[in-house]
Amino acid sequence: MRVRPGFPDFRLGNVLATSFTGTLSERHGNAVERIPTPQRLIDWLAVNGLAVDSCTTAQLDLARELRESIHAAATAAALQDALPASAVKVINDRSAQGRASAILTPEGKRRWQLSSSSLVEDALSVIAADAISIIAGERDGKLALCASPTCRAAFFDTSQSRTRKWCDMNTCGNRQKKARFHANQRKDPGSGE
Ligand SMILES: [Zn+2]
Repeated sequence: MRVRPGFPDFRLGNVLATSFTGTLSERHGNAVERIPTPQRLIDWLAVNGLAVDSCTTAQLDLARELRESIHAAATAAALQDALPASAVKVINDRSAQGRASAILTPEGKRRWQLSSSSLVEDALSVIAADAISIIAGERDGKLALCASPTCRAAFFDTSQSRTRKWCDMNTCGNRQKKARFHANQRKDPGSGE
């Protein structure tokens, strides 16, 4: 992970689309923007196998618009609500706009090859396509919302039992565990827990 002083670090997940929506966290609390500058979007894309040459402010806006559209559509899908039409349009526009090819490496892994100019739009099309595959229910897993009231991030639950509660065990899960621990201590100061 690339750490730049003064910028919040990235949360890495296994699902590209929800890792991307996770670049804005605590949407219902003190929101943390993890891609506050074009350079940070370049960094995030590089970490996620989508290296681009450059990024303008307008392209960062495009990325954030896609991010919030994926968040809105994934949230609706998790709640089994109708998908918001405006979000669907943005996801489809971004999916159609970029050029990227899936490449099979000699090691049997998939890698994304962007167009020769490696544009942000190419990278966004890969993210949009990833979002489409999970929202359309094509992948093994289930969209769910984080149980943390200040987070409510949509995440893709691939656990066997499909009972995962937190978008991220290291952040939301841990915080909730600690909160519960302190609440219990307050209730029962003599428990010695
Ligand atoms: Zn969460």
